[in-house]
Amino acid sequence: MSLTDYIRTIPDYPKKGVQFRDITTLLHNPEGLKAAVNQLVEQYKDLKIDRIAVIESRGFLLGAPLAYCLDAGLVLIRKKGKLPCETLEESYDLEYGTSTIEVHTDAIMPGDRILLVDDLIATGGTAEAAIKLIRKCGGEVVECAFLVNLPELKGDKLLEKLGCSTFALCA
Ligand code: IMP
Repeated sequence: MSLTDYIRTIPDYPKKGVQFRDITTLLHNPEGLKAAVNQLVEQYKDLKIDRIAVIESRGFLLGAPLAYCLDAGLVLIRKKGKLPCETLEESYDLEYGTSTIEVHTDAIMPGDRILLVDDLIATGGTAEAAIKLIRKCGGEVVECAFLVNLPELKGDKLLEKLGCSTFALCA
């Protein structure tokens, strides 16, 4: 079974016309979750990753076991107002309005080699904001890793323009 087979698509969620890729079915399945994490471990085990930056909330689910396996630290990138100590923030455009993400100022040391992890890349707006935050902290983004890339939305091309490569386990 390929990883794509573990992920279901929900039509018209959260609104009409959207084909939502629902990764909960991969998480439900012990083989699916293990295969996804193991493939990411294989990809990054020799790249000397210091910390894995994970985007709230589904990025946490893959990034935490990956950080454990790679002996890396875990950096939480959260929606504004969720982190208790001093933060840096970055805003980005959504279809309607804007959103803001934050990271603790002491979460990344200058020169840290950072792997950015989220469940899915669509337009790339969320990952772009996360990359900017990591760079503000002095971190080096080694790569951006996702379970799913939706290449038709060109998020990977946007990240390329920022000098970051995209790796995804499935499309
Ligand atoms: P982007 O900023 O347009 O690349 O959207 C990516 C962000 O939205 C990620 O944090 C995803 O978790 C979430 N997202 C967008 N579309 C989907 C989807 O179809 N399934 C799961 N998450 C999605």
